[in-house]
Amino acid sequence: MGKTWRVREGTKPGCAGAGDEDNDNFKEGIIMLYDNDCRLCPLAGLRSHIVWGEGNQKAQLMLVGEAPGAKEDLCGRPFVGAAGKLLDEVLTGAGIERKDIYITSVVKCRPPKNRMPHRVEITACSPYLAEQLRRIRPRVVVCLGLLAARHFLGPEVKISEVRGRWFELDGIKILPTFHPAAIFRGRDKLPLLKQDMEKAAREIL
Ligand code: URA
Repeated sequence: MGKTWRVREGTKPGCAGAGDEDNDNFKEGIIMLYDNDCRLCPLAGLRSHIVWGEGNQKAQLMLVGEAPGAKEDLCGRPFVGAAGKLLDEVLTGAGIERKDIYITSVVKCRPPKNRMPHRVEITACSPYLAEQLRRIRPRVVVCLGLLAARHFLGPEVKISEVRGRWFELDGIKILPTFHPAAIFRGRDKLPLLKQDMEKAAREIL
């Protein structure tokens, strides 16, 4: 499935992994939307990097998180911090290779102190995710956490009620689950996150 990534020379220490020409070309292809100096919301003034997302542009599976954290902001890559390491383990356990999927977040710039993104930030950033979905057209979207679940399924949903259940939106199957960072606050959620990722894997493998 898909293409392989090459590690880009000159990558910042600790940031190596998926930077590649394809990913860059993909961004250039939608430069109108991928404004690399986006100033649509106040997070622009606080970020080091916009974390657009990365992965296979023909992915059948897209993971959508909340917003970048400190390490992601530094590297410009999604899920490379502690939550990303746990996510990698869960993906590997489910037989999913990171290079085969696409990973992004609802909001592309880091909110201060990792607070929940504000409504204005989510609204400003939404066209980017919409365009990523339009171009990649994944069969399955796994929502990592409440913010992503609400983004796709509506502002009232509770993660306890929707996690692990299939939904459908414009022909895309949506599966909400826990954000990997939530596991650090409650290890009992880990088997459920693993179970959900295996469920997503069965749908695409
Ligand atoms: N959490 C997210 O939701 N997205 C990232 O890219 C990193 C951590």
